[in-house]
Amino acid sequence: MGSQPDCKGRLFVVSGPSGVGKGTVVAEVLKRLPNLKRAVTYTTRQPRQGEVQGKDYRFVTREEFERLKEQGAFLEWAEVYGNFYGSPKHEVEQLLSRGCDVVLVLDVQGALSVKQQIPDSVLIFLEPPSLDELKRRLEARGTDPPEVIERRIAKAQWEMGQACKFDHIVLNDELEDAVSQLVKLIQETTTAQTVEGGERC
Ligand code: ADP
Repeated sequence: MGSQPDCKGRLFVVSGPSGVGKGTVVAEVLKRLPNLKRAVTYTTRQPRQGEVQGKDYRFVTREEFERLKEQGAFLEWAEVYGNFYGSPKHEVEQLLSRGCDVVLVLDVQGALSVKQQIPDSVLIFLEPPSLDELKRRLEARGTDPPEVIERRIAKAQWEMGQACKFDHIVLNDELEDAVSQLVKLIQETTTAQTVEGGERC
């Protein structure tokens, strides 16, 4: 195991292809685990309908993103289809040191990059039942034109090949099954980390 010497919380990274259900599953998991907090990613992409500033993402301009990058504010950052995404280093560190468990929702490359920096973070790969089902979910979500969906599916084939580098693979077929599996996994992993007598989140 790597080291997080001053941290009492544990970092969980939920990743997987676009459309597999990361946002949906994590939102449910957060309702059931009060000690788990989501660190909210910065992005330069436009909000989708229903997305809330500061809850789903921190929506910023390109200029703001560049400034934050120069200040070293990101644990990792990436450009995906012309939009920038970055995970908030300070927020993650603060939550962990307060004794919260933290969940980050990241693309596959971002997840692998976090693991290099924080080796005892726990990487979870959310897997779709099939590429056909993944395509159906992306179509049902209704946020992307057909050519973007095709690109996401092409990328998903590469991403699925990275699953073996993750600590855990969770199948998101029936939503409730995936949610309870993830809750159980987090509970089991975090018990070992609980500091006796220490403040929790
Ligand atoms: P991601 O965050 O991985 O891009 P989303 O959470 O936006 O994915 O989910 C993509 C679409 O799939 C959404 O319309 C969501 O309601 C749907 N979805 C998520 N999980 C399931 C599931 N287990 N079964 C069927 N549809 C699902």
